[in-house]
Amino acid sequence: MQDCLFCKFVNRELNTDIIFENDDFIIFKDIAPKAKNHFLAVPKKHFKYLSDMTEEDSATVGRILMKISSLTKLLGLEKGYRLVINQGDDAGQTVPHLHIHILSGQKMGWEPA
Ligand code: AMP
Ligand code: ZN
Repeated sequence: MQDCLFCKFVNRELNTDIIFENDDFIIFKDIAPKAKNHFLAVPKKHFKYLSDMTEEDSATVGRILMKISSLTKLLGLEKGYRLVINQGDDAGQTVPHLHIHILSGQKMGWEPA
């Protein structure tokens, strides 16, 4: 999609430090980390909301979750981790391309509101 930051990372129109890639998605470091380790997992296909997904997209997201959980060393998942998907304004979604935040490397509190 034109003018989408994360599509530009996927298509290499803009440079970011991609630490993992397969046919489904890329992973890179968040520019404004909210935990000791903060990565973003971004599907190669552009869509904004989980509710936009086709059956095929949901299978892709399932594979992405499985793969993330296997990248223990790379993502620092040894002692636990948190995955976050912000959806829409109330959740503070700022990039309109579905992405999974991966937070790890420290104890985390829980203050959703
Ligand atoms: P969200 O607020 O859930 O839409 O998440 C968007 C995330 O993208 C935020 O955590 C930002 O810090 C991150 N972000 C924005 N621009 C960049 C960038 N150029 N490189 C890496 N991460 C970015
Ligand atoms: Zn996009």
